[in-house]
Amino acid sequence: MTLKDEPYMIDMLSHPVVSGLIVMAIIGALTYKLRFVDVSGLISAFVVGFTVWYTGGVAAFTLLLFFFVSAGIATKYKYKTKAKKNLAQEGKGRRSWRNVFGSGIIPMFFSIGIYLTSILTSDPFYPFAMFGGYVGAVATTAADTLASEFGVFSTSKPRLITSLRRKVPRGTIGAVSLLGEGAALTAGFAIGMICLLFALVAPGWIPVYNPTQLWMILPLAVLTAFIGCNLDSLFGAVFQNRYVCEICGAITDKEFHCQYETKYIGGFKRFTNAHVNLGSSGMGATLGVVLGAGLFVWILGGLFFWLVVSSSN
Ligand SMILES: [Zn+2]
Repeated sequence: MTLKDEPYMIDMLSHPVVSGLIVMAIIGALTYKLRFVDVSGLISAFVVGFTVWYTGGVAAFTLLLFFFVSAGIATKYKYKTKAKKNLAQEGKGRRSWRNVFGSGIIPMFFSIGIYLTSILTSDPFYPFAMFGGYVGAVATTAADTLASEFGVFSTSKPRLITSLRRKVPRGTIGAVSLLGEGAALTAGFAIGMICLLFALVAPGWIPVYNPTQLWMILPLAVLTAFIGCNLDSLFGAVFQNRYVCEICGAITDKEFHCQYETKYIGGFKRFTNAHVNLGSSGMGATLGVVLGAGLFVWILGGLFFWLVVSSSN
């Protein structure tokens, strides 16, 4: 190689298509080897990951990677203990294309939104609002995953989100615990901190353009994670198909439990956990857009109203 060729090589490597392909290949090989995904999950993760890398930039991609890796670790964490208690993900915890698209499709949509608004407008308001939606969707999904994977280790019995006085068995659809809520908040905080770090160290890699947006990003991540995760439990408790295990009494979305067929007791039969997740990440994204557009007052006002109404009952 001559000196003249060298800058060209660097140029080529720094092109988002080339760098994206290299990064996806490395991460894909690693996660497949770690058994985070099956083949269909690997292919769909490539589609989502590459699109986000190309359109949303390195920071947006890093958030997705954080979710992907922490979800993988959380699922593998004490997998055997969870499996024994019928609390584990199926397929040895390997995510398939359904899981990957279920948690990745809305972030991908908003990532494309970041790209389009940043080339079509010169107003930093729009790409940041799109980024707010992106962060909201990822934070909700990450919070929900970590809350359900770690929440099952809660030493006190969880309560049902639709009637908080009622204690229910671990793993029940719509069950919430303090440990789970803590995990959700931690996920949101971690995502917000990653954003802050990028905004301060590599501002060109994140669609945060002014100090106001910089101040907003951490509370936005924490709020969307917390609210989105609880909305997920609420949607689950209200809409999701529910079956009761006649052996152990657990209420689950599985048609088999304790090696016996379970009995259908409520919810919409075709409304599965994947639909719930899609719905809540959509709500998390919407909330993120609202917050990103600077409408914090609305949200805080709404929360205040809800607290007043619910405490007067
Ligand atoms: Zn059972």
